[in-house]
Amino acid sequence: MHGRNHTAQVVRFGQEFLLIDCGEGTQIQLRKFKAKASKISTIFISHLHGDHYLGLIGLLSSYHLSKRKDPLRIFGPRGLDEIITSHFRWSQTRLSYPLEFTETTTEGKVTLLDHPQFTVSSFPLQHRIPTTGFIIQEKEGLRSLIKSKLQERPLSLEAIQQLRLGQDYQNANGASYSVKDYCHPSASLRSYAFCSDTAFNPLLTAYFEGVDVLYHESTFMEADSLRATETFHCTAKQAAQVAKLAGAKKLLLGHFSSRYPDLDELLAEAQTIFPNTSLSEEGITYPIPTS
Ligand SMILES: [Zn+2]
Ligand SMILES: [Zn+2]
Repeated sequence: MHGRNHTAQVVRFGQEFLLIDCGEGTQIQLRKFKAKASKISTIFISHLHGDHYLGLIGLLSSYHLSKRKDPLRIFGPRGLDEIITSHFRWSQTRLSYPLEFTETTTEGKVTLLDHPQFTVSSFPLQHRIPTTGFIIQEKEGLRSLIKSKLQERPLSLEAIQQLRLGQDYQNANGASYSVKDYCHPSASLRSYAFCSDTAFNPLLTAYFEGVDVLYHESTFMEADSLRATETFHCTAKQAAQVAKLAGAKKLLLGHFSSRYPDLDELLAEAQTIFPNTSLSEEGITYPIPTS
């Protein structure tokens, strides 16, 4: 994030609070920006480079000290459970809350969380160690009925239930009722994709095609593109190419190298390819409105 603390993002969907990556200092930042750390139900860790997870043990310890009871789910790469378990074993801590760990994989797209309103899936990125991105996709809710239509022609409960699920209905006498006649069109389903450290690979864009907001790392400027390739990172311009190829609606850049004092130049490079780009800033909320 802009301000140069390590990566951590809170994603809120309704009453559900998720945390993506947990770099060093995350809990201090959560407190500073009054983000509701205690409400976080699930943590997703992209990879085991320190700038993406070194704040995790501190956060888990604070939950214990504040006597958290709510279960906490963690999704992360192989080895993370060993790091957590070994820390708490050696500190002789029995956590006050249940911790459920699930290992992520870099084999294709995998649904990690299936919430009634959204899913969270992981997908592979191309970095020096196993790394995944994450995509949060809103699910279709029940359709709302067009009231005037119901007054014209009352429907059975069965018909209403089926139409609200988005399926056409036919009764025993063969009379048919189509969703488009009886229901308002469904709102477009929102999505957010998080691409932490990765080399430029156009093939990966298939995992987040048409996403509303894409967060993408942009460690380097074009002049340092060789360095980007060597370290399996992207330039701002490459991040913009990824957003364009994926047909994203908006691009948020982050994970900037400390070598650049002026990030506006980096932003300008990206905007030559993908105009709807912003620098992500610490403590700022980026809403994705329903349309
Ligand atoms: Zn990394
Ligand atoms: Zn990193």
